[in-house]
Amino acid sequence: MSDCLFCKIIDGSIPSTKIYEDDHVYAFTDISPVAKGHTLLIPKHHCQDLFEMPEEVARNLYAVAPKIANAIKAAFQPIGLNTINNNGAAAGQTVFHYHLHFIPRYDEKEGLGLIWQTQKYSAEQLAEVAESIKANL
Ligand code: AMP
Ligand code: ZN
Repeated sequence: MSDCLFCKIIDGSIPSTKIYEDDHVYAFTDISPVAKGHTLLIPKHHCQDLFEMPEEVARNLYAVAPKIANAIKAAFQPIGLNTINNNGAAAGQTVFHYHLHFIPRYDEKEGLGLIWQTQKYSAEQLAEVAESIKANL
């Protein structure tokens, strides 16, 4: 895609700090890291988000995820690491070429702050939700 920032990073017309590249994916440092080692992994095939991602692109992308996570772990010894992917502006997506964030965790005060509010669902409600999703697989 000619007007896509991350496609331009892949083709080298916009500079990036490359960490890894193969035939299918490209990994580079996030320009505004949330924590030391914050890395983005993207498919070379342009797709806007997870909803649009072909299965084979997903396979090739996630095949590399453990390698990236373990390299970050070995480099900086974080005490944890989140992988996060935002799909849609309402979910916080700002660059519309799929990317998987690798965000290392060092202590509770640094970096990523996740608000994770749980809700109470009965077994029947959970089953109803599951049926709705299953009907669309
Ligand atoms: P998201 O909000 O999930 O769409 O994340 C987009 C990410 O891309 C943000 O964390 C930005 O800091 C990062 N970003 C934007 N422009 C660049 C760039 N030129 N090089 C590296 N990372 C970038
Ligand atoms: Zn793109």
